[in-house]
Amino acid sequence: PHAARTQAASHAASQAPNDLDAFWMPFTANRAFRARPRLIAGAEGMHYVTVDGRRILDGAAGLWCSNAGHGREPIVRAIQAQAAQLDFSPTFQYGHPAAFTLASRLAELAPGDLNHVFFANSGSEAADTALKIAIAYWQARGKATKTRLIGRERGYHGVGFGGISVGGISGNRKSFGTLLAGVDHLPHTYNRAEQAFTHGQPAWGAHLADELERLVALHDASTIAAVIVEPMAGSTGVLPPPQGYLERLRALCDRHDILLIFDEVITGFGRLGAPFAAERFGVTPDMLTFAKGVTSGTVPMGGVIARAGVFEAFMQGPPHMIELFHGYTYSAHPLACAAGLAALDLYRDEDLFARARKMEKAFGDAVQALKGLPGVLDIRNIGLAAGIDLAPAKDDAGKDAPGKRGLAAIESGFHDHDVLLRVGGDTIALSPPLIASEDDIAALVDRVAGVITATA
Ligand code: PLP
Repeated sequence: PHAARTQAASHAASQAPNDLDAFWMPFTANRAFRARPRLIAGAEGMHYVTVDGRRILDGAAGLWCSNAGHGREPIVRAIQAQAAQLDFSPTFQYGHPAAFTLASRLAELAPGDLNHVFFANSGSEAADTALKIAIAYWQARGKATKTRLIGRERGYHGVGFGGISVGGISGNRKSFGTLLAGVDHLPHTYNRAEQAFTHGQPAWGAHLADELERLVALHDASTIAAVIVEPMAGSTGVLPPPQGYLERLRALCDRHDILLIFDEVITGFGRLGAPFAAERFGVTPDMLTFAKGVTSGTVPMGGVIARAGVFEAFMQGPPHMIELFHGYTYSAHPLACAAGLAALDLYRDEDLFARARKMEKAFGDAVQALKGLPGVLDIRNIGLAAGIDLAPAKDDAGKDAPGKRGLAAIESGFHDHDVLLRVGGDTIALSPPLIASEDDIAALVDRVAGVITATA
């Protein structure tokens, strides 16, 4: 393995680009990046390899997606074989076997009668697809006034116009005009005074679901199509749902005939120690969205899993008719399906979801032990996910400069502590691959401690 690594490192070094200007990087401070690039050229297991050959511990499963770890042989081989056999096939009006097999496997994995899968290529497309299905569903059922969509503050549902409209991150919304009409937001469930340093689900906050009653009173249920929430808000800092909150949301949606959508783009495929958060929390939505972990991040894929009743509502017209005018050229792309089937096999064969559940306590204890380091305001954890809020750095005038310490943490992690972190604002989110050993977790937390101290 050492020889392989050395070889990978020298190969990686030869790939360093000499011009960083043309790539307009997503969700990145482009100028800061160019001033001090963080370039990754290889990956293996729990580690990335930088272009200069350093091994960096992956504390984020890439971007919440590489759940089986990196460079996994069975997935690599499946993608290679699929590319050689069937590189592309349309799924408008034609089909290929792997698409149907993967859909069945996902239906089996999802709880209850969530058993019809619509494929997209990302979490953003999955969210917009679910919102469109919700509106079209009510129209198909003769209730065309039910079009209003309800999201949540601090919610993240990708970057399509649907997703940012129901999303609750102001930075993702404010530059983009009027967005979708007819959208409301429930409050987020985070309250530091009530919840700080909680392991798992906080006891406080279930009553916030009742805000849905207020929106129903305001608009009338006859205008509301769906509520969409992440069962655990990931991108805004790992916010586990308060005990009883999702149950209450489910009951209110039932009472008022409103569809409930779980965005499981992060929580799907083992992050919380179960195939989906729906199972972990014992609450079944009418649709759930997935992406990321479905292929362990190897090939872009996303999608929506709908309950039988949702699907059946569309299957009522003349059989020659297209039932849903929606889809993507790359829906159920053969390479993604092959990668997805191989990833699901790996998850099953290595029992990785149960493993995440088993590691939850050790991981949580280790991360919570960072309490007391300089400027640590709160730590939350559930499954193999944790959020660490850091006090912001100051600007030259002595005022808070949100995001400055966060960027410093990314830089310090990459350049000085050999760890890749996901940071939003001044919150570090940890989500290691599910293959992480206790030693990996100890190393991760140790390096994060170094980063926190260095950026204090
Ligand atoms: N929904 C949730 C809950 C997410 O966390 C993300 C990405 O992090 C998305 C949607 C968007 O996914 P993508 O970046 O694949 O479009």
